[in-house]
Amino acid sequence: MSVTMAEAGTGLTIRDRVAEMGQRVLDGGQISRDEALELVNIESNADIMDLLAWANRIREHYKGNKIHLCSIVNAKAGACSENCSFCSQSAAFQTGSPRYGFVDPEPVQDAMSEAKDNSVTAVGLVAAWRGLKEGPMLDEVCDRIREMKENGKSRPDASLGLIESQAVADRLKEAGLSCYGHNLESSRRFFPEHCTTHTFEDRLKTIQFLKNAGISICSGGIIGMGEDREDRVDLAMEIREIDANVVPVNILNPIPGTPLENQEPLPPMEILKTIAVFRFILPQKEIMIAGGRTVNLRDMQSMVFTAGASALMVGNYLTTLNQPVEKDLQMLRDLGLDPDWDNDFADQLGSGSCGSKCGSEEKTVEAAVTA
Ligand code: SF4
Repeated sequence: MSVTMAEAGTGLTIRDRVAEMGQRVLDGGQISRDEALELVNIESNADIMDLLAWANRIREHYKGNKIHLCSIVNAKAGACSENCSFCSQSAAFQTGSPRYGFVDPEPVQDAMSEAKDNSVTAVGLVAAWRGLKEGPMLDEVCDRIREMKENGKSRPDASLGLIESQAVADRLKEAGLSCYGHNLESSRRFFPEHCTTHTFEDRLKTIQFLKNAGISICSGGIIGMGEDREDRVDLAMEIREIDANVVPVNILNPIPGTPLENQEPLPPMEILKTIAVFRFILPQKEIMIAGGRTVNLRDMQSMVFTAGASALMVGNYLTTLNQPVEKDLQMLRDLGLDPDWDNDFADQLGSGSCGSKCGSEEKTVEAAVTA
């Protein structure tokens, strides 16, 4: 159930209440779940614009004018055993999405070179499968990560699904991985509505193994799957709890053949409001707009930064196209923002630096997350 300003009984106008919460966050404080619900239930465009202005102020306060850029390379496509309802790569759905096995070194090296040419800080190695266990495939994955690291052009990150033991996470760390993308996707309550082949708890367990290994976490979700506003707030609260370094926000791009192919899109103002509430809940994190921005926001894409985003997935997503990188770079220049070439997330609270792109998740717009 949602909490409105009136129910909250504060006696303040919405504008005053947003300003009170915004100033508190600027001063280093937090907002509660109930307060986040107040914000996400704001309805009028005038009040939403106030909310965006405060989110922008919080972004500038904690992140300056730097925008972190990430990209991904799809290392294994299609035929995934899982049934995430937004994903064109699941074997459970007929989507016509490409299928291929784990890639050789060359395409990965090409992606690293392209990323370097576009001044992208990190490249995420993404695979459509359930996850990683010990064995020959883990050896191959570690080889690719080592090669990416030796290439030295961009930081290697990965999003390779569920991890089933501490030993696997430790191997990835030894290979040189500093950041792993693993979206929670949605709230704990809504998760079984879009995936039944693994659980929200499986995802939390994977994240714990990675954190134990000293790997930074890129974890966010996908909005527009039919969840409600309370689910979006609960997702952000879970992310605050796990202390992810980078938080990808994907917006559903319904893919024909998936169970969500006819899902009604979220209105752009609802998307921007959600990003702003994420900034209030996660003031110091890299909030990255990933899949689905072009198709859902259209001419309003540049407003994601006003709404508090501090990072952007550039280049094509896993199974859908994005606008050209040069167009994104021009958008940043026009807004007076700078790509953050050297971002190592050292200014963030929590464990460390993620370079990542976290890709995976981005991947997804439609697809989201791998695993
Ligand atoms: S999101 Fe990932 S785990 Fe889920 S079906 Fe797609 S590739 Fe598989």
